[in-house]
Amino acid sequence: MQVPILDLKAQFDSYKEEVMRAIGKVCESQAFALGPAVAEFEEKIAEYCGCKCAIGVSSGTDALLVSLMALGVSAGDEVITTPFTFFATAGCVARLGARPVFVDVDGDSYNIDANLIEEKVTSRTRAIIPVHLFGQVAAMKPIMEIAARHNLAVVEDAAQSIGATQDGVMCGNLGDCGCFSFYPSKNLSAFGDGGLVVTNDEKLAERIRILRNHGQNPQYFYGVIGGNFRLDGIQGAVLGVKLGYLEKWNGQRRRHAALYDRLLAGSPVKTPKIDSNNVSVYHQYTIRAPDRDGLQRRLSENKVGSAVFYPKPLHLQDCFGKLGYSEGDLPVAERLCGEVLSLPIYPELSEPQVEYVARMVLEFYGSS
Ligand SMILES: *Cc1c(COP(=O)(O)O)cnc(C)c1O
Repeated sequence: MQVPILDLKAQFDSYKEEVMRAIGKVCESQAFALGPAVAEFEEKIAEYCGCKCAIGVSSGTDALLVSLMALGVSAGDEVITTPFTFFATAGCVARLGARPVFVDVDGDSYNIDANLIEEKVTSRTRAIIPVHLFGQVAAMKPIMEIAARHNLAVVEDAAQSIGATQDGVMCGNLGDCGCFSFYPSKNLSAFGDGGLVVTNDEKLAERIRILRNHGQNPQYFYGVIGGNFRLDGIQGAVLGVKLGYLEKWNGQRRRHAALYDRLLAGSPVKTPKIDSNNVSVYHQYTIRAPDRDGLQRRLSENKVGSAVFYPKPLHLQDCFGKLGYSEGDLPVAERLCGEVLSLPIYPELSEPQVEYVARMVLEFYGSS
């Protein structure tokens, strides 16, 4: 049996005709930059997220960048975030001349440890970016309390977590704004790059809408310096169709996760822990595994795909050398980088495939 880490083609077959019709409509209209397909998608996804405003942008990275710009983060500011995330979370902070301040993560949720945030707040701190990693929302209640005490903005990096909830509330509604990515491997994905900012703050939404198009307002007059962060019309059309399937796909991911949980219980690997107030959308099913590299090799020999998210924490990346971190500073994140392994969890997996992957894991440890 063969189980790739991700199989986008298996999904494509299920909505092919519908999406090709929607793309055809955009081609007929020739409205390729923003346009009605994007506006329609924004309306639909705002409703899905239970948010007042949704602004389609060019990528998840640009969603973060334009959010920080709209919140006024600039040179000399400090922004608190996690070192155990995709690069863009901290890259955007540094691109604005601000300083990423990394706070260690919790070894169960893999998300920022809220207990360690407040001691890192200084007079220069402007914002916190919690990341909802692998489909699970970070502990937002303590984070929002800290932000309120120190007057900080909170940007949720929800790139991996569209549809995930905490205490019944969709992520994206928990901070000042939420950023989603529609990169092809994400739970809701475009046919290329795309992203979105959601917010309940209409003034913030308006600033983001203006910044998305170079800061232009009205046409050819620029009050602020923005960029080209526009979402393509074709991507809006694709996303509008695929959004209709998202709940079903996230449900399938949760079923696979529950099966993995059951099959791997009592084995040497640590399965993902989801807080009781969270509903995860399992962007990844990430275990902590003894002899992780040996396990990954064995899986690969048996045609099972897997991936290491992430092999090196951000505070130790060469490009952030000037920040002055060294090994041992953020021990939980550093340890996770040597132990984590993500197993196949995409919606179209069959039950026998999940069982096969679990069996290969158990056999590696001689505990089948
Ligand atoms: C994917 C991702 C991003 C960036 O999104 P792009 O659409 O690839 O630019 C940012 N943060 C996290 C946590 C991500 O997983």
